Amino acid sequence: MAVSTGQERGLFIGGEVVEAASGEVRDLLEPATGEPLARAAMGGEADVDRAVAAAREALDGPWGRTPPNERSRLLHALADAIAANRKELAELESRNVGKAISSVKAEVGGAVENFRFFASVLGSIAGRANPVGGSLQTYSIKEPVGVCAQIVPWNYPLLMSVWKLSPALAAGCSVVLKPDPQTPLTVLRIAELAAEVGFPAGAINVVPGDGPTTGSYLVRHPGVDKVAFTGSTRTGSEIMRLASEPLKRLTLELGGKSPNIVFADADLDDAIPSSVWSIYYAAGQSCEARSRVLVEKPLYDEFVSRFAAYAKQLKVGDPLDPETQVGSLISTAHRERVHGFVEKGREEGAEVVVGGELPDGKGAFYAPTVLAGVDNAMTVAQEEIFGPVVAAIPFEDEKDAVRIANDVRYGLFATVWTGDPARGHRVARAIKSGMVGINMPFTAFPGIPFGGYKQSGFGRELSIDTLELYLETKGVLFSVSPKPFNPFGL
Ligand code: NAD
Repeated sequence: MAVSTGQERGLFIGGEVVEAASGEVRDLLEPATGEPLARAAMGGEADVDRAVAAAREALDGPWGRTPPNERSRLLHALADAIAANRKELAELESRNVGKAISSVKAEVGGAVENFRFFASVLGSIAGRANPVGGSLQTYSIKEPVGVCAQIVPWNYPLLMSVWKLSPALAAGCSVVLKPDPQTPLTVLRIAELAAEVGFPAGAINVVPGDGPTTGSYLVRHPGVDKVAFTGSTRTGSEIMRLASEPLKRLTLELGGKSPNIVFADADLDDAIPSSVWSIYYAAGQSCEARSRVLVEKPLYDEFVSRFAAYAKQLKVGDPLDPETQVGSLISTAHRERVHGFVEKGREEGAEVVVGGELPDGKGAFYAPTVLAGVDNAMTVAQEEIFGPVVAAIPFEDEKDAVRIANDVRYGLFATVWTGDPARGHRVARAIKSGMVGINMPFTAFPGIPFGGYKQSGFGRELSIDTLELYLETKGVLFSVSPKPFNPFGL
């Protein structure tokens, strides 16, 4: 096998592209066409062993000796390299995931900014020094946690990898990253770019492979000090169990069923198009997709009909067309699952206002779908559908809105639309989620902590707090007394 041509991708271990020990190579299909896109090597246990050993060697060697200012320079250089290769990366991601290129371009821009953010804030890594009392003094130092296993899903393979790599590398950790086997292409390219700009061998290793085998082995690996996972809540629970022996540090970024709350006093010309975007970008395959639209009762019918009219207008199609707003889902198998939820909604009494049909033809497309008359107890209001399907739920008043918003097991994001600023902040306080947006649809920016409450996980991405999750704090104690301690009075 030619391991890294445009069409054939190897694993990335110890600074180079390598074949999988088993020789396994898998065909990757383009979700929007069903046609072959590339072939990628799939790693197994022997490859994880190799990658963890390379990561440890880097930490004990050149990468571990790289001072913070040089780490910062390397992170900026990688940001520059991503910016210089943004066209190639965007097209690769769009074709591999099926997602509209307009969104993917913004994601590549976000990746660049994310590396820059952590390149800057790593200068803030510092311990403290305090006199404790008497002759006793102490200082603390920050050290990288060590070798990090990072596992990411298929919905934002490039961005989720960058969200994880950037704080880990800023803190001085080395990484073995396992992308989803369907979507390894862009992070493999980023690992190559990292090597080109001078990251030492073994600082970044990428081993695509199946979750229950390769991923599980990586999580349990005794050479791994920390596991950072993004994916479903079900897999997150399993990872927490697997990471407990031997015990590892853990962060989990999991699923969501985020509410988009629209009060009758909101500016509807702003709230409605933004609410449409908040569910349908990335074809609804976003953890923080506002998949439940909660609307104050007097406004409900008007809101649903205006929302549905916009949903119908969205341009669904070729992900590489710059005009496309909604691309393909990741696979026809996933589309079956999404459609199954819509059918379940119908059975439980929801009205399908637009969409909700399985289309003919090539690709895994699914039309933006609106379910009205939804009660929050229905399956479509409780379960993460992870597709372009919104559940519109009426509410009575502010108290009822907060009750419904919180009445799910998840707590990732919420958006509130209101003309009353005090109400916006009051509701933001009352909602049990890691993030709340007031009168704006956007969710993720470098510098703003991103993560969940409840079953949406724990730990935060994107912020200065994230650095702490990749650092250990060591306390050093000493005495300035000229007299030695003699605790036994010997
Ligand atoms: P998933 O949990 O099925 O898979 C995620 C990753 O885990 C993949 O790389 C997979 O191969 C791996 N995996 C699966 N089983 C494993 C195991 N037993 N041991 C180790 N690794 C294993 O999730 P998915 O369907 O690929 O992704 C969609 C989910 O991700 C949604 O629930 C979405 O909300 C969530 N997500 C969360 C965030 C966030 O920041 N909170 C961001 C993006 C996606």
